[in-house]
Amino acid sequence: MKKTTNAPAPMKLYCNLFGHNYEVSKKVTSHVKEYTCKCCKKQLTTNSDGALTELTPKFKEINSILEEMYVRRMERSQEKAFSSSY
Ligand SMILES: [Zn+2]
Repeated sequence: MKKTTNAPAPMKLYCNLFGHNYEVSKKVTSHVKEYTCKCCKKQLTTNSDGALTELTPKFKEINSILEEMYVRRMERSQEKAFSSSY
């Protein structure tokens, strides 16, 4: 009996040949998103220049801060909209 090693090498090869198959895995703010490749699970994010870059732990940290700020701002603008309607 031969044991199959579960290396994702063929998927990586596929990505190298045909390009990654990214889908949005997380919406951080209205213009910053995180993407994950459906094949090899490589992750990208939008950086401050609006370009795509590899999602490193550093960028994950930045994104979580951005997300928190964004959510807070959204909540505040909703409160404002509520109070101005009175
Ligand atoms: Zn890929």
